[in-house]
Amino acid sequence: MLELKPIQHFDLFDKPKANILIIYTGGTLGMDYDENGALAPCGFDQILRRAPVAKELQINLSVISFETPIDSSKVELTHWQRMAEVIHRHYDQFDGFLILHGTDTMAYSASALSFMLDGLNKPVIFTGAQLPIASPRSDARENLVTSLEIASDKKNGKPIITEVCIFFNNVLLRGNRSKKVESERFDAFESENYPVLAKAGIAIEYQWSYLKPFREEQLKLSVALDPAIVILKLFPGLNLSTVEHIIKAPLVKGIILESYGAGNVPHEKWFLDLLKSGVDTGKLILNISQCNGGRVLHGKYQTSGALDSIGVLSGADLTTEAATTKMMYALGRFSNPTDSKMCLTTSIRGEMN
Ligand code: ASP
Repeated sequence: MLELKPIQHFDLFDKPKANILIIYTGGTLGMDYDENGALAPCGFDQILRRAPVAKELQINLSVISFETPIDSSKVELTHWQRMAEVIHRHYDQFDGFLILHGTDTMAYSASALSFMLDGLNKPVIFTGAQLPIASPRSDARENLVTSLEIASDKKNGKPIITEVCIFFNNVLLRGNRSKKVESERFDAFESENYPVLAKAGIAIEYQWSYLKPFREEQLKLSVALDPAIVILKLFPGLNLSTVEHIIKAPLVKGIILESYGAGNVPHEKWFLDLLKSGVDTGKLILNISQCNGGRVLHGKYQTSGALDSIGVLSGADLTTEAATTKMMYALGRFSNPTDSKMCLTTSIRGEMN
């Protein structure tokens, strides 16, 4: 059972420029040396001791932590549901939300939350670090402090950011467009198919034309996610019996087909027949590309020409992270397949063009 610690308030200022709720889930950022000199997850108090400047930003901080901070490779649907519920429950009390999270699955979590939080008009910023906050060269302080600034930034009294984002290594990215692309350098995230939303230099330079504009909206929470999905990544040599097992697996309701280039698949009869049998038995098949940039264009080449008529859906320029979480959301949220298909092929949170 996933427990949360009671909320802690650090009301440091009488007239704060913002009240921010930090959800601390774990990851490398929140690691410090234990009595044996080994790196282990630490509590949020320890993070603040290592980054005292976070207390000088004219922001009142509140923190809610996972009882046991996790490595993000352990993240499950229940973690996403708890994060989204916390934001929903405390939505009116805070100007923005910051989620401290491991980098490994941050793009999945940011994508999932973007779908679960409909009508968001406040910032939800994910950040983490490549080096623990206890390390002298850590990127944690910079990521933490600038994320707090972004989460509290307003223009004409309204929040500048009104969506789920990732801030990392001086760039702010749309969460459901992001990918972890690097495990050693500090520039761990990219968003190949959508421009950077802001760059942090001496000032934070927002790219106004790419931001989701503020709208008077009511936040609606959808926590139903259905994990009965699978990713079928094509590679030369993939054989009939493997594809058959995946497509005919009785518990699988949705298949993300990771195809080549602009959405191309082997033009073999057995392969197309299997895809068709999946669609005919009510499975949703969504075609996305293995390339980080560009998009699926059914019919551009002969090798993708048959997919529309079979009923394979085009995932356009969705990332794998956005496609998988959107498929879970569509299957969980809608009981009618027509609604799920409509959801998968339309941009609902700026995740596809
Ligand atoms: N394994 C860690 C995690 O994702 C890596 C990190 O935080 O950067 O939790």
